[in-house]
Amino acid sequence: MSTKLRILVPVKRVIDASLKPRINKAQTGVETKGVKFSINPFDDIAVEEAAKIKAAHKGAVEKLHAVSIGGTKAQDVLRIALAKGFDTSTLVDVGEQDVEPLQVSKILQKVVEKDNFNLVILGKQAIDDDSNQTGQMLAGLLNWPQATNASEVVIEGDSVTVTKEIDGGAETVKAKLPLIITTDLRLNEPKFVTLPKMMKAKKKPIETLKPEDLGVSVEQRLKVLKLEEPPVRKAGIKVKDVDELVAKIKELI
Ligand code: AMP
Repeated sequence: MSTKLRILVPVKRVIDASLKPRINKAQTGVETKGVKFSINPFDDIAVEEAAKIKAAHKGAVEKLHAVSIGGTKAQDVLRIALAKGFDTSTLVDVGEQDVEPLQVSKILQKVVEKDNFNLVILGKQAIDDDSNQTGQMLAGLLNWPQATNASEVVIEGDSVTVTKEIDGGAETVKAKLPLIITTDLRLNEPKFVTLPKMMKAKKKPIETLKPEDLGVSVEQRLKVLKLEEPPVRKAGIKVKDVDELVAKIKELI
Protein backbone atom coordinates (compact mmCIF):
# COMPACT_ATOMS: atom_id res chain seq x y z
CA MET A 1 0.00 0.00 0.00
CA SER A 2 1.36 3.42 -0.83
CA THR A 3 1.93 6.16 1.75
CA LYS A 4 -0.91 8.63 2.31
CA LEU A 5 -0.04 12.14 1.23
CA ARG A 6 0.31 14.75 3.94
CA ILE A 7 0.92 18.00 2.10
CA LEU A 8 2.28 21.21 3.62
CA VAL A 9 2.17 24.51 1.70
CA PRO A 10 3.99 27.55 3.15
CA VAL A 11 2.30 30.79 2.09
CA LYS A 12 3.75 34.26 2.54
CA ARG A 13 1.87 37.57 2.68
CA VAL A 14 3.65 39.98 0.37
CA ILE A 15 3.04 43.32 -1.38
CA ASP A 16 0.53 42.79 -4.18
CA ALA A 17 2.29 41.73 -7.37
CA SER A 18 0.52 44.40 -9.46
CA LEU A 19 2.05 47.27 -7.45
CA LYS A 20 5.32 49.02 -8.20
CA PRO A 21 7.31 48.74 -4.96
CA ARG A 22 8.69 51.99 -3.53
CA ILE A 23 11.71 52.18 -1.25
CA ASN A 24 11.02 53.46 2.29
CA LYS A 25 12.48 56.74 3.59
CA ALA A 26 15.15 54.97 5.66
CA GLN A 27 16.26 53.13 2.45
CA THR A 28 16.25 49.83 4.31
CA GLY A 29 13.36 48.11 2.57
CA VAL A 30 10.21 48.47 0.56
CA GLU A 31 7.52 50.90 1.77
CA THR A 32 4.74 48.84 3.33
CA LYS A 33 2.51 51.57 4.81
CA GLY A 34 -0.86 51.93 3.08
CA VAL A 35 0.05 49.27 0.52
CA LYS A 36 -2.13 46.36 -0.63
CA PHE A 37 -0.88 42.92 0.39
CA SER A 38 -1.75 39.54 -1.16
CA ILE A 39 -0.64 35.94 -1.15
CA ASN A 40 2.76 35.49 -2.82
CA PRO A 41 1.80 34.52 -6.42
CA PHE A 42 4.03 31.43 -6.47
CA ASP A 43 2.45 30.27 -3.19
CA ASP A 44 -1.01 30.70 -4.71
CA ILE A 45 0.17 28.32 -7.45
CA ALA A 46 1.38 25.89 -4.74
CA VAL A 47 -2.00 26.05 -2.97
CA GLU A 48 -3.81 25.44 -6.27
CA GLU A 49 -1.55 22.47 -7.06
CA ALA A 50 -2.12 20.87 -3.65
CA ALA A 51 -5.89 21.33 -4.08
CA LYS A 52 -5.63 19.76 -7.57
CA ILE A 53 -3.68 16.79 -6.16
CA LYS A 54 -6.36 16.29 -3.52
CA ALA A 55 -9.12 16.37 -6.15
CA ALA A 56 -7.26 13.97 -8.46
CA HIS A 57 -6.18 11.50 -5.73
CA LYS A 58 -9.23 11.23 -3.53
CA GLY A 59 -8.50 8.97 -0.57
CA ALA A 60 -4.74 9.18 -1.07
CA VAL A 61 -4.48 12.65 0.46
CA GLU A 62 -4.76 12.59 4.23
CA LYS A 63 -4.22 16.27 4.93
CA LEU A 64 -3.62 19.66 3.30
CA HIS A 65 -2.07 22.13 5.72
CA ALA A 66 -0.97 25.74 5.11
CA VAL A 67 1.56 27.62 7.22
CA SER A 68 2.53 31.27 7.23
CA ILE A 69 5.30 32.98 9.15
CA GLY A 70 4.45 36.62 9.72
CA GLY A 71 2.27 39.00 11.72
CA THR A 72 -1.39 38.42 12.58
CA LYS A 73 -2.41 39.79 9.16
CA ALA A 74 -0.82 36.72 7.58
CA GLN A 75 -4.05 34.97 8.59
CA ASP A 76 -5.53 36.51 5.40
CA VAL A 77 -3.33 34.36 3.17
CA LEU A 78 -3.99 31.25 5.28
CA ARG A 79 -7.73 31.84 4.73
CA ILE A 80 -7.18 31.76 0.96
CA ALA A 81 -5.66 28.28 1.31
CA LEU A 82 -8.50 27.19 3.63
CA ALA A 83 -11.05 28.53 1.13
CA LYS A 84 -9.38 26.48 -1.59
CA GLY A 85 -9.93 23.25 0.31
CA PHE A 86 -7.10 23.10 2.85
CA ASP A 87 -8.08 21.32 6.05
CA THR A 88 -6.01 23.16 8.64
CA SER A 89 -3.41 25.90 9.01
CA THR A 90 -0.77 27.40 11.29
CA LEU A 91 0.33 30.97 11.79
CA VAL A 92 3.83 31.21 13.21
CA ASP A 93 3.53 34.68 14.69
CA VAL A 94 6.75 36.68 14.43
CA GLY A 95 5.07 40.09 14.66
CA GLU A 96 6.33 42.67 12.19
CA GLN A 97 9.85 41.24 12.07
CA ASP A 98 11.40 40.19 8.77
CA VAL A 99 12.52 36.58 8.90
CA GLU A 100 15.41 35.37 6.77
CA PRO A 101 15.05 32.28 4.53
CA LEU A 102 17.26 30.13 6.80
CA GLN A 103 15.06 30.90 9.83
CA VAL A 104 11.91 30.33 7.75
CA SER A 105 13.36 26.98 6.65
CA LYS A 106 14.17 26.00 10.25
CA ILE A 107 10.61 26.83 11.32
CA LEU A 108 9.23 24.84 8.38
CA GLN A 109 11.48 21.90 9.28
CA LYS A 110 9.92 21.81 12.77
CA VAL A 111 6.40 22.09 11.36
CA VAL A 112 7.12 19.17 8.99
CA GLU A 113 8.56 17.02 11.77
CA LYS A 114 5.79 17.87 14.25
CA ASP A 115 3.02 16.74 11.94
CA ASN A 116 4.77 14.18 9.70
CA PHE A 117 4.23 15.89 6.35
CA ASN A 118 5.72 14.02 3.41
CA LEU A 119 5.29 16.54 0.60
CA VAL A 120 6.04 20.26 0.88
CA ILE A 121 5.09 22.51 -2.02
CA LEU A 122 6.60 26.00 -1.78
CA GLY A 123 6.76 28.90 -4.17
CA LYS A 124 10.06 29.12 -6.03
CA GLN A 125 10.50 32.60 -4.55
CA ALA A 126 8.78 35.23 -2.51
CA ILE A 127 8.36 38.31 -4.72
CA ASP A 128 9.27 40.72 -1.91
CA ASP A 129 12.82 39.53 -1.17
CA ASP A 130 13.30 37.36 -4.31
CA SER A 131 15.56 35.10 -2.25
CA ASN A 132 14.70 31.81 -3.99
CA GLN A 133 16.33 29.94 -1.08
CA THR A 134 13.73 28.56 1.32
CA GLY A 135 12.74 25.38 -0.55
CA GLN A 136 16.36 24.47 -1.19
CA MET A 137 17.39 25.11 2.44
CA LEU A 138 14.43 23.15 3.77
CA ALA A 139 15.41 20.19 1.58
CA GLY A 140 18.93 20.45 3.00
CA LEU A 141 17.74 20.60 6.61
CA LEU A 142 15.39 17.65 6.18
CA ASN A 143 17.80 15.77 3.91
CA TRP A 144 14.98 15.23 1.38
CA PRO A 145 15.18 15.31 -2.42
CA GLN A 146 14.02 18.53 -4.07
CA ALA A 147 12.47 19.35 -7.43
CA THR A 148 12.56 23.12 -7.93
CA ASN A 149 10.79 25.32 -10.50
CA ALA A 150 8.09 22.77 -11.27
CA SER A 151 5.92 23.17 -14.36
CA GLU A 152 4.23 19.75 -14.01
CA VAL A 153 3.74 17.34 -11.11
CA VAL A 154 2.52 13.77 -11.59
CA ILE A 155 1.93 11.55 -8.56
CA GLU A 156 1.74 7.75 -8.82
CA GLY A 157 1.67 6.09 -5.41
CA ASP A 158 4.92 6.93 -3.61
CA SER A 159 6.59 8.23 -6.78
CA VAL A 160 6.43 11.82 -7.93
CA THR A 161 7.53 12.91 -11.40
CA VAL A 162 8.27 16.60 -11.75
CA THR A 163 9.01 18.59 -14.88
CA LYS A 164 11.31 21.45 -13.97
CA GLU A 165 11.84 24.70 -15.86
CA ILE A 166 15.50 25.11 -16.66
CA ASP A 167 17.32 27.63 -18.87
CA GLY A 168 16.22 27.02 -22.44
CA GLY A 169 14.12 23.92 -21.78
CA ALA A 170 12.65 21.43 -19.35
CA GLU A 171 14.11 18.65 -17.20
CA THR A 172 12.03 15.77 -15.85
CA VAL A 173 13.00 14.16 -12.55
CA LYS A 174 11.46 11.40 -10.46
CA ALA A 175 11.68 10.89 -6.71
CA LYS A 176 10.07 8.91 -3.95
CA LEU A 177 8.27 10.65 -1.10
CA PRO A 178 9.17 12.55 1.05
CA LEU A 179 9.89 15.40 -1.33
CA ILE A 180 10.20 19.19 -1.61
CA ILE A 181 8.73 20.86 -4.68
CA THR A 182 8.92 24.56 -5.59
CA THR A 183 6.47 26.00 -8.09
CA ASP A 184 7.07 27.95 -11.29
CA LEU A 185 4.59 30.04 -13.25
CA ARG A 186 3.52 27.42 -15.81
CA LEU A 187 2.42 24.84 -13.22
CA ASN A 188 -1.21 26.03 -13.14
CA GLU A 189 -3.40 29.12 -13.19
CA PRO A 190 -4.79 29.72 -9.70
CA LYS A 191 -8.54 30.18 -9.57
CA PHE A 192 -10.12 33.19 -7.94
CA VAL A 193 -11.64 32.39 -4.53
CA THR A 194 -15.31 33.32 -4.22
CA LEU A 195 -16.61 35.30 -1.23
CA PRO A 196 -18.89 32.47 0.04
CA LYS A 197 -15.86 30.15 0.09
CA MET A 198 -13.86 32.77 2.00
CA MET A 199 -16.72 33.14 4.50
CA LYS A 200 -16.92 29.36 4.99
CA ALA A 201 -13.14 29.23 5.49
CA LYS A 202 -13.51 31.46 8.55
CA LYS A 203 -14.80 28.41 10.41
CA LYS A 204 -11.67 26.38 9.65
CA PRO A 205 -8.87 26.26 12.21
CA ILE A 206 -5.83 28.54 12.33
CA GLU A 207 -3.43 27.36 15.02
CA THR A 208 -1.10 30.09 16.31
CA LEU A 209 2.43 29.35 17.45
CA LYS A 210 5.45 31.43 18.35
CA PRO A 211 8.87 30.54 16.90
CA GLU A 212 9.98 29.73 20.49
CA ASP A 213 7.25 27.04 20.65
CA LEU A 214 9.16 25.32 17.85
CA GLY A 215 12.54 25.99 19.42
CA VAL A 216 13.68 28.33 16.63
CA SER A 217 15.29 31.74 17.06
CA VAL A 218 14.36 34.33 14.45
CA GLU A 219 17.19 36.66 15.26
CA GLN A 220 18.30 38.44 12.10
CA ARG A 221 21.81 37.72 10.93
CA LEU A 222 21.80 40.07 7.97
CA LYS A 223 21.52 43.83 8.23
CA VAL A 224 20.34 45.78 5.21
CA LEU A 225 22.65 48.79 4.98
CA LYS A 226 21.02 50.47 2.01
CA LEU A 227 18.49 49.78 -0.70
CA GLU A 228 18.59 51.82 -3.89
CA GLU A 229 16.47 51.98 -7.01
CA PRO A 230 18.32 51.40 -10.28
CA PRO A 231 19.36 54.66 -11.99
CA VAL A 232 16.64 56.09 -14.22
CA ARG A 233 17.44 55.38 -17.85
CA LYS A 234 18.27 58.47 -19.90
CA ALA A 235 15.83 59.26 -22.71
CA GLY A 236 17.04 58.17 -26.16
CA ILE A 237 17.28 60.41 -29.23
CA LYS A 238 15.77 59.99 -32.69
CA VAL A 239 17.98 60.10 -35.77
CA LYS A 240 16.57 61.02 -39.18
CA ASP A 241 18.49 58.54 -41.36
CA VAL A 242 21.19 55.87 -41.47
CA ASP A 243 23.97 58.42 -42.12
CA GLU A 244 23.11 60.29 -38.93
CA LEU A 245 22.92 56.96 -37.04
CA VAL A 246 26.41 55.98 -38.25
CA ALA A 247 27.75 59.44 -37.34
CA LYS A 248 26.29 59.17 -33.83
CA ILE A 249 27.76 55.71 -33.32
CA LYS A 250 31.17 56.99 -34.44
CA GLU A 251 30.87 59.86 -31.97
CA LEU A 252 30.29 57.38 -29.15
CA ILE A 253 33.15 54.98 -29.89
P1 AMP B 1 12.17 32.84 -0.66
O1 AMP B 1 13.23 31.82 -0.46
O2 AMP B 1 12.11 33.89 0.44
O3 AMP B 1 12.20 33.48 -2.04
O4 AMP B 1 10.75 32.08 -0.53
C1 AMP B 1 10.47 30.88 -1.24
C2 AMP B 1 9.19 30.27 -0.71
O5 AMP B 1 9.33 29.94 0.69
C3 AMP B 1 7.94 31.15 -0.76
O6 AMP B 1 7.35 31.13 -2.05
C4 AMP B 1 7.05 30.48 0.30
O7 AMP B 1 6.47 29.29 -0.19
C5 AMP B 1 8.09 30.11 1.36
N1 AMP B 1 8.24 31.19 2.34
C6 AMP B 1 9.20 32.13 2.43
N2 AMP B 1 8.98 32.97 3.46
C7 AMP B 1 7.82 32.57 4.04
C8 AMP B 1 7.04 33.03 5.16
N3 AMP B 1 7.40 34.10 5.87
N4 AMP B 1 5.91 32.35 5.46
C9 AMP B 1 5.53 31.27 4.73
N5 AMP B 1 6.22 30.79 3.68
C10 AMP B 1 7.35 31.43 3.34
